[in-house]
Amino acid sequence: MKYDAIIIGGGPGGSTAATYLARAGRKVLLLEKEHFPRFHIGESLLPYNNGIFEELGVSDKLASAGFHKKYGAQFHLSNSSKTLKLCFRKGKYTRHIMSLQVERSKFDHLLLNHSRESGAEVREGWTVTKSTNDQQQITVTARDESGKVETFEAHFLIDASGRGNFTGNQENLREIHPHLKKISLFGHFEGVRFDEGESRGDTCVIRFENKWFWLIPLTESKGSVGVVMEQEEFIKARQTPTELFERIWKSSSHMRHRMENARPLMDIQATGDFSYYNRKLIGPRLLRIGDAAGFLDPIFSTGVFLAMYSARMAALIVDKALATGNDGSKALIKYEKKIFKALNYYWEMVEGFYTRPFMEIFVQPQPRDRARLVDAIVALLAGELEGGWKIEWRRWLFFILVKIHARRPIVPPLSFADDAMPAEAVCATNARQISL
Ligand code: FAD
Repeated sequence: MKYDAIIIGGGPGGSTAATYLARAGRKVLLLEKEHFPRFHIGESLLPYNNGIFEELGVSDKLASAGFHKKYGAQFHLSNSSKTLKLCFRKGKYTRHIMSLQVERSKFDHLLLNHSRESGAEVREGWTVTKSTNDQQQITVTARDESGKVETFEAHFLIDASGRGNFTGNQENLREIHPHLKKISLFGHFEGVRFDEGESRGDTCVIRFENKWFWLIPLTESKGSVGVVMEQEEFIKARQTPTELFERIWKSSSHMRHRMENARPLMDIQATGDFSYYNRKLIGPRLLRIGDAAGFLDPIFSTGVFLAMYSARMAALIVDKALATGNDGSKALIKYEKKIFKALNYYWEMVEGFYTRPFMEIFVQPQPRDRARLVDAIVALLAGELEGGWKIEWRRWLFFILVKIHARRPIVPPLSFADDAMPAEAVCATNARQISL
């Protein structure tokens, strides 16, 4: 039996591609090595996921699952001396204004079941061990937990294997970003101090001089907290992830304020190998999507959105190629260009985030902001990748300002020095909150 498409991996990328194709009446096989629900990090979504949820027909299921609503993002310095609060609703160029904070075990499971209900054949506990592709067809070999091996054939292959990077590794295509060799330590906690009211759902980013924390509310009592830091610092520290994690948050007055009543609900986890891309995102009858295309440092919570954005595009291309009976090679080239462009947009923002000039301009926008630069940045951070020229020139101008500021300061320097004030007082008195 020949499938129209085989998909490797059942994360948000794989399940999105499977649902689009199944709803278009295509014969799809999705192979996932784990059994869901399974733990996965990456819990803060972007508002522009919503357009894709609508098209997938899964919005009602998500609404009844009771996920936390996210209306904005907050950026704080570790000593609370500066705070920037971005509110999606107030962004002039932002078409979707609300997003979700999700426990990935529940979210990914819901999406995978939706693919199944939409008509895709989903096999959990099946690990893909080999794939070959040529102009004519795809052949995939997979093994289940009992050791049984099967070979499947299809017209197209979508690699959604995440950071497992199945076909990219097979073809030795992975390039690791030389300046972003980071590691993340993270866990779930209860008793984290989030804001009250609508801002409770915000993702909080706490920027230290050379690292940053995220705080993401998941349920009424549970929150996700993680730090992203240099791999080198982690190695030099010679501490367990738990010891190091605690030492770092305790060094910041802002974090002490948020974490003073927090209790861990799991052991602190560690993951490295950040920020890479594959030199090629396509091959004959093959498309790489989500983290299997490239993975970006999670500072702006772009991962799940980019996985679903690329999955949507890949599925539409495959569906069209199947309808016209060709191998879609021209459309595949366009796909690669578009995904590289999207990755580059965020890549530039991520690289900037780790530099002082970018941070100084970013957290100290002009109060009147006549050029509406912040609106463009808010739109990009919400997931607006089709905003056209109105976003493009403002993004460009923002980076010009960062360059000018690096040579001739146009806003005051930031200080990360943690003073001896009690955390609560620091948060209440020093924070300059700009609500946009
Ligand atoms: P995945 O979700 O990783 O799914 C891939 C699936 O493929 C897995 O289920 C895996 O089991 C399966 N698989 C792999 N190999 C095989 C094989 N050989 N055979 C069969 N199945 C296979 N993103 C956000 O949007 N917001 C965040 O706040 C955020 N925070 C993050 C924090 C950290 C520390 C990290 C590391 C990532 C974060 N991300 C975040 C990124 C996000 O987790 C990923 O971008 C997202 O999960 C990508 O989805 P995907 O479907 O491409 O891959």
